[in-house]
Amino acid sequence: MFHRWFEEAMAGEEIRRIEIRKEEIWGRRCRIIERKGLEYTGMEDFNELVKRPCIFCNPEKVSKFGEDFGTTMLENDEAFLFPNISPYARHSGVCAFRKHYIKIDEFTPSLIAKNLELGSRYIDKIGKMEEVRFASISWNYMMPAGASILHPHTQILVDRHPTVYMEKLLGRREEFERYIEMEVESERFIGRVGKVLLFTPFVPYGYNEVGGIVEEGLQIDEISKALAKILSYYSAIGRNSFNVSIYISLEDEFPVHFRCITRQNMGKYYRNDVAFLERLHEEVVLERSPEEVAEDMRNHLNC
Ligand SMILES: [Zn+2]
Repeated sequence: MFHRWFEEAMAGEEIRRIEIRKEEIWGRRCRIIERKGLEYTGMEDFNELVKRPCIFCNPEKVSKFGEDFGTTMLENDEAFLFPNISPYARHSGVCAFRKHYIKIDEFTPSLIAKNLELGSRYIDKIGKMEEVRFASISWNYMMPAGASILHPHTQILVDRHPTVYMEKLLGRREEFERYIEMEVESERFIGRVGKVLLFTPFVPYGYNEVGGIVEEGLQIDEISKALAKILSYYSAIGRNSFNVSIYISLEDEFPVHFRCITRQNMGKYYRNDVAFLERLHEEVVLERSPEEVAEDMRNHLNC
């Protein structure tokens, strides 16, 4: 399931070590190198961007669902969900928080839950209207994570077809469960938050990645508590941009789980964290090992 080996390279007079890891579920690899500085952690002022006029501050101006949906949008006191004007799938919803700018350390479990609750209602509603098999709730927080609008919002996709990631899990439930067991029994296990088991994956998709496996399906309150803990950790280590994806199989072909990674901090001339190895070779380059991240987050949760 897990493989790792080391290479040594001469860098001038010094020997530098490169660790290469491979896992068998998604067939992915990563490289852990000794260089420090891949992650951009500068704290720049982006108030000018915060002050720009914003469409999500005007819920009346965003797109609305058609008559067959039964309501023009889904809403509660902290969030509102509407169809994406640039859909990524047959059913593609955007769920914006009511507040225009929310700092990473201001996302409480109940605030996150208000957003995810609408996402879950959207998925249920689509499921009653037509045959769908997969869903995801994802979040690009801030521009380095891919957000085009600063105002925080999640994106919900509901589809008949799996994404490439999900497709790799189909028909491999036992193997996937064994994988989770191995992660949870390893030094990468962070701990349990309610009904969510948190760990850092052996081969992460990105920096400071934390994965969560949810017992008993899409439990919004439990996932929200876990995500709030992860975001509080990201804030404590000075990061201000992240991605989250919650993967959902509506026919229970794999357990509900999520991944959360940090991206480069908001900076005018930041270096992108996705370069030729990530884009064109499908390998992620890291400089903090998952074991280091797990230990650091365990310490954060205990203090
Ligand atoms: Zn706004």
